[in-house]
Amino acid sequence: MVKPFASSADLREKTETLEVLGDGVYALTAEGDPNAGAVEGEDFLVCFEARATPLLAGRWLEQLRVHTSKPVRYVVLSHYHAVRTLGAAAFGADVIIAHEQTRRLIAERGVQDWESEAGRMPRLFAGAEAIPGLTWPTVTFTDRFTIHLGGDRGELVLAYCGRGHTAGDIVAWLPGERVLFAGDLVETEAALYTGDAFHDDWAATTLGAVAEFGAETLVGGRGAVARGRDAVAAAIEQTREFLTVMRAEVGAVHARGGTLREAFEAAHAALEPRYGLWPIFEHCMPFNVQRLWDELDGVDWPRIWTAQRDRDVWQALQS
Ligand SMILES: [Zn+2]
Repeated sequence: MVKPFASSADLREKTETLEVLGDGVYALTAEGDPNAGAVEGEDFLVCFEARATPLLAGRWLEQLRVHTSKPVRYVVLSHYHAVRTLGAAAFGADVIIAHEQTRRLIAERGVQDWESEAGRMPRLFAGAEAIPGLTWPTVTFTDRFTIHLGGDRGELVLAYCGRGHTAGDIVAWLPGERVLFAGDLVETEAALYTGDAFHDDWAATTLGAVAEFGAETLVGGRGAVARGRDAVAAAIEQTREFLTVMRAEVGAVHARGGTLREAFEAAHAALEPRYGLWPIFEHCMPFNVQRLWDELDGVDWPRIWTAQRDRDVWQALQS
């Protein structure tokens, strides 16, 4: 059986749901498609993630408009990936915030990533013709950035937890509500994409820093909202387990001088029983194993995915 390239055959529209997580705290979930978030300040709105196109970001904003008419002052980009950044124009925000490594990655590979992701996930790029160009952060930071929400609404803390899904992931933390928007650093019942990741840092220290917030509600990059401490811990553990299995399986094949294809088959076989039916598992695995293989070869900074390299790796591993 020939597996269709990445998510190119995933054309069924997902139901998009606005979930109210607290007073003026919202999540967009979409049955395993990328999640987003929003937090009300006293007289403005902060949006977490910008979706892939202005059309899709505008649909999310329409749902928010049922609850609030406050203007969007801040858009927070959790990381550089196209499906989470290119829709930003729809918000008309004053400030676009990201980690400094996210700005670096957009400059270095934003164009290639756009083309790569549009090819892998065409359904997520509905309305792509209206994307005005790359989304550039107007403010960057390295460690922490606090947004004072005004009135008695407290603060929203943007924090870097270390290298993980990319070199520049950040999370958004509401200490008052104990809500954490974790971006793609944590997935809740969805497969991990690790094609641009730092597997060792992510599993060894970054997830620990994410857990230290002690969140009671966690919105991951994809999948359902984790509600309650047990569900939050389970989501973080599921993410760690995926990385641990990949490192063990791919690491063993690499250490004995095996081939990339053997590493792919070993990792796929080990993860499939638990993760195989979750969103984007088959799509991600070739890119994940290739990146981990590169890391084991000593390639620290992820190689750039292009539409052609995507097809070549897919052909080598999934066919
Ligand atoms: Zn991502």
